[in-house]
Amino acid sequence: METIKTDVAIIGAGGAGLRAAIALAEADPKIRIALISKVYPMRSHTCAAEGGAAGVIKADDSFEQHFHDTVGGGDWLCDQDAVEYFIHEAPKELTQLEHWGCPWNREPDGSVAVRPFGGMKIQRTWFAADKSGFHILHTLFQTSLQYPNIQRFDEYYATDLMVDDGRCQGFTAIEMKTGQMRRFQAGAVVIAGGGAGRIFPFNTNGAIKTGDGMALAYRAGAPLKDMEFVQYHPTGLPNTGTLLTEACRAEGGVLLNKDGYRFLQDYGMGPETPLGKPELKTMELGPRDRVSQSIWHEIQKGRAAKTPWGDCVWLDMRHLGEKTINERLPFVRDICISYLGIDPVAEMVPIRPVAHYMMGGIHTDINAATSVPGLFAAGECACVSINGANRLGSNSLVEILVFGHRAGLSALDYARGQKPGNDAALSTQGEAAQAKLRALFTRNIGKESISGLRKEMTDTMGEGAGIYRTQEGLTETCDKLADLRRRYADVALHDKTNVYNTDLLSALELGSMLDCAEAVAVSGLERKESRGAHQRLDFTARDDSKYLKHSMAYYHPTEPPRIDYRDVVITTSPPGVRDYSGAKK
Ligand SMILES: Cc1cc2nc3c(=O)[nH]c(=O)nc-3n(C[C@H](O)[C@H](O)[C@H](O)COP(=O)(O)OP(=O)(O)OC[C@H]3O[C@@H](n4cnc5c(N)ncnc54)[C@H](O)[C@@H]3O)c2cc1C
Repeated sequence: METIKTDVAIIGAGGAGLRAAIALAEADPKIRIALISKVYPMRSHTCAAEGGAAGVIKADDSFEQHFHDTVGGGDWLCDQDAVEYFIHEAPKELTQLEHWGCPWNREPDGSVAVRPFGGMKIQRTWFAADKSGFHILHTLFQTSLQYPNIQRFDEYYATDLMVDDGRCQGFTAIEMKTGQMRRFQAGAVVIAGGGAGRIFPFNTNGAIKTGDGMALAYRAGAPLKDMEFVQYHPTGLPNTGTLLTEACRAEGGVLLNKDGYRFLQDYGMGPETPLGKPELKTMELGPRDRVSQSIWHEIQKGRAAKTPWGDCVWLDMRHLGEKTINERLPFVRDICISYLGIDPVAEMVPIRPVAHYMMGGIHTDINAATSVPGLFAAGECACVSINGANRLGSNSLVEILVFGHRAGLSALDYARGQKPGNDAALSTQGEAAQAKLRALFTRNIGKESISGLRKEMTDTMGEGAGIYRTQEGLTETCDKLADLRRRYADVALHDKTNVYNTDLLSALELGSMLDCAEAVAVSGLERKESRGAHQRLDFTARDDSKYLKHSMAYYHPTEPPRIDYRDVVITTSPPGVRDYSGAKK
């Protein structure tokens, strides 16, 4: 097997992976960096982000306020030392992007424009129309091209980490064009593999978000933290799940039930505000968990509109006018017309909540180090944790920059002190990874199909681990997932060829998803309280006495994960009440 020896290897070339690579290359022009991605970098999910990225920049804002919005928004499950670091680094990273060429929208005086965002009680979301992620990823990608020591391996799929002598020393990956496996040997590895929203049937996530990065680390012994916290975004298109960014509401769009009533005022997010003037603390700019849960209740109460795509509420943007929509939300207009045949300038748009983002992920410390020496993680696949039980919109695009940067520098520090690995031991691990793949090719086709198992997995996740959960539903989902994991051992490939074998990739991605799904469901079953995005109909209150803790899921090859807990870091903000009522204090 061909071996590629490098100093630091990065899995994932989305926002977090590219930012890590640039940090490394800037810090040391001699260091060798291998950047691996299963798709071309510009096809990473970061490209799909619409609304914007949060960072304190205006005179009326403060670090303290960004800190409190984030910690309260996260229902006090954030590690507050990490949040402090994050909010201070955020404007530096966004300004750096500006210097690299990111076309942020402007105020009339030429300064950077910001827009409101859900749960942010002061305007601080930088944006580039409603294509912020596209511009951020382009900026990072073109910047990365300046550095000859970043060597890219596009369309390589990482399959297994190699851990020897108590530290991570690389991984195996398939070159998809040829089907050949390669061994990447490195002094340190950064995982920036993105989220796992595809474990749910109805989601906003790109097809590649199958939790591979999380599964790689998990199987190598790193625990997955806070996996039960899955964010539902309130405004997904009801047919495809395509996201309509929160910026629709930030620009003044409102949510109505079937009677044309702005129902959010009934769910602790009043009082009603004048049309077209979003009030920063209330109504449509409440945090995502609360808004999604309110829509769920409206649907249960029979106050949703009946549409060809099921029960929905309305997103009404008509009063914004064509000029504002074209300037600020051109992509949203495009999406509504293309996928629903509805023009938001003239008509209301039906929407319903959709699985969007994983707050949980690979446990890391504030330096992006996992518990496996030599292994670092950043971006949506990691849980550092700044998002706690509910991420605020526009914090993630900044998290990938701040902690991507941090992960790069931490990996560099680590790699510098390491002796070369033991080639023979790593070669044995490479052979073992290859043998697992061969088994997929040689196994006879039985009754289990990849798509069949996948459908059963997403169905059970939607039924048992959705917006509202119960002991019974979660238990059923956990049992089903355990069964699916057993049956997964029998899947075989129809396509036995080597060139771009998507059948093989689907099989491997399904394995990653099953591991992530099980961590979500089992962690959810164990958390007998309601906090942020984890809502239990049988334990409706937040219980700080027992659960002001991070859950930690540990992998087992044949059993469900073992769940342990870890203290939350509280520095200055003791747990309090989340208030979005707009009441004056
Ligand atoms: C539709 C949408 C809109 C969003 N809008 C916003 C927003 O406005 N503001 C905000 O803050 N957040 C937003 N988010 C969230 C945010 O965009 C993501 O959390 C963030 O971009 C994730 O970046 P990442 O670098 O961690 O992962 P990604 O950009 O998903 O990149 C993952 C990388 O890992 C690679 N990879 C994965 N597995 C493997 C493997 N096995 N081998 C090799 N490579 C692998 C992929 O090829 C890819 O390059 C949005 C998300 C979605 C889905």
